[in-house]
Amino acid sequence: MKLEQYYNMNYLLENIDLWLWDWDDTLIDTRTYYGQKMKPDQILQRTDQDLDQEVPGWRYFVNLITFLVMKSKKVGIVSFGTNQIIEAYMKRMFKSENHPFSDDNILTIQRDDNYKPIEKYLKKDKNDFINTLINKYQKEPSKTILFDDAIINVIQAIKYGILAIHLPSRESEYQVNQNQLWKNPNLLFNYKTLYKSEKFIKKQIRMKQNLIKSVEHFTNRELWKQKIKKKFKNEDKQRKILGFLIISILIITIISISLFNK
Ligand SMILES: [Mg+2]
Repeated sequence: MKLEQYYNMNYLLENIDLWLWDWDDTLIDTRTYYGQKMKPDQILQRTDQDLDQEVPGWRYFVNLITFLVMKSKKVGIVSFGTNQIIEAYMKRMFKSENHPFSDDNILTIQRDDNYKPIEKYLKKDKNDFINTLINKYQKEPSKTILFDDAIINVIQAIKYGILAIHLPSRESEYQVNQNQLWKNPNLLFNYKTLYKSEKFIKKQIRMKQNLIKSVEHFTNRELWKQKIKKKFKNEDKQRKILGFLIISILIITIISISLFNK
């Protein structure tokens, strides 16, 4: 862990007892689901190079988890993804049956053998999973951290008093820089993430109640923003809106000038 010298790992260890990760687009690049076979047996056959593409930060993640567990910290995965897939990846990444992840700390929605959800997950809040682990390990929400690419999960977690770091969304970057993404795993959790988020984590720890207050009205606003963003994501629509705005401004200007000249 070379980067450790650039950030204060001791500070993080003192202040965080329970370390949690989302899975989809936080650890695994979800495009893997479309290009690769995802049965547990097939996942176990992945080469290191396959993993470098599918879970780009896996080598660092394995080191970090090993280190945290050695320091008596608790770790877990909280995801709306597929338990069987995550477990197989963990077994493969840690190259051993004996690793710190199991049904106990990989919390997902339940799915059948074909990975079809057998519970309604859209209504489920990620905090339900997080809370289960907090209770199980008897840790404080304020000493728990979540890494997640979905801003909504991050906001909900902060509202509940948990520290949470938002990783950049793959989708937005994917549009810009498709080819580099495989080589440059900055978007997903990787060896730079703690270094890059240290100041935000410190700020969150300092802010405590004020942090919770600061996100009180955030969810609805953010949901609304995301909806708008999605709606107008395609360039055609953006061009139409821009055209509409320019014409509106022109019309308003013409009306104002003619009124002014009267
Ligand atoms: Mg995710």
